[in-house]
Amino acid sequence: MKKVKLVYNSNAGQSKFSQFLDLVIEKFMQNDLEVIIYRAGDKDNLEEFLKDSDREELYGIVVAGGDGTLNKVVTIMMKYNIKTPLGVIPAGTSNDFAKHINMPNSYLDSIDKILKNNVCGVDVGRANDKYFINVCSAGLFTNSSQRADPNLKQTLGKVSYFITGAKELFKFRPFSVRIRADEEEYTEKINLFLVFNGSSVGGMTYFTSDSSIQDGLLDLIIIKNCNLHEVAILLSKAFTGNLEDKNIIYRKAKKIVIEKIKGNCDRPDVDGDEGPEFPIEITCIESGINMFL
Ligand SMILES: [Mg+2]
Repeated sequence: MKKVKLVYNSNAGQSKFSQFLDLVIEKFMQNDLEVIIYRAGDKDNLEEFLKDSDREELYGIVVAGGDGTLNKVVTIMMKYNIKTPLGVIPAGTSNDFAKHINMPNSYLDSIDKILKNNVCGVDVGRANDKYFINVCSAGLFTNSSQRADPNLKQTLGKVSYFITGAKELFKFRPFSVRIRADEEEYTEKINLFLVFNGSSVGGMTYFTSDSSIQDGLLDLIIIKNCNLHEVAILLSKAFTGNLEDKNIIYRKAKKIVIEKIKGNCDRPDVDGDEGPEFPIEITCIESGINMFL
């Protein structure tokens, strides 16, 4: 009997996943798959649980959680070069990646999709020594999820990100960077930059129709120095796919290097968690992991 390693996050957002655990196990067993369960939390040893996955008789690794838990699992898979397919059950506060790959909202329906065994290579971003599946960013609005109060996050879900974001607004000052994206170089005073692997962030599921997690490229969006009102308009334009503006730089690249040359900016954020310090070198690792899509 083949096995599934199931990692679930017991305190992911407003998730009720643990209440469905029995049904989830039943579903896999009905399909001749034995389930090995790992309850991820603050003091877990997930690395030990996952590191030999390629040597075991596994159908796949399945994560039930949000982008944060998924990032943890992908990081371990990259570290140990694990090619066992990964599946996602959306069960977190923010499930941007799961949305991007069109996983159904229902836990059982997403398992059905995983059971179809449609496995494809998916790109992974790397910013210095940190991996990301959605986005690496810094500047205005972008550090909200790392700073959202955990209790607030539990109660309010995604809304807490925007509350934290609004508080940050009044303190923010633009900063200067030198950005190299493949052959091109920009020196600009900016409000924020976003580097996407695919095209989903903050619950908004697309910004350009041709972004993909399978193109071996990252999508870089820079919002230049302009007033806050303009930033809000530019972001909403960008998220609906309209990137034609003198205050937006948009391009695709395989490798992006960002140096901060003047001003203050917090550490960049990777998938909603604290990322590496500047300067950062961001690369796209084409087909870094295999996933059930
Ligand atoms: Mg891409």
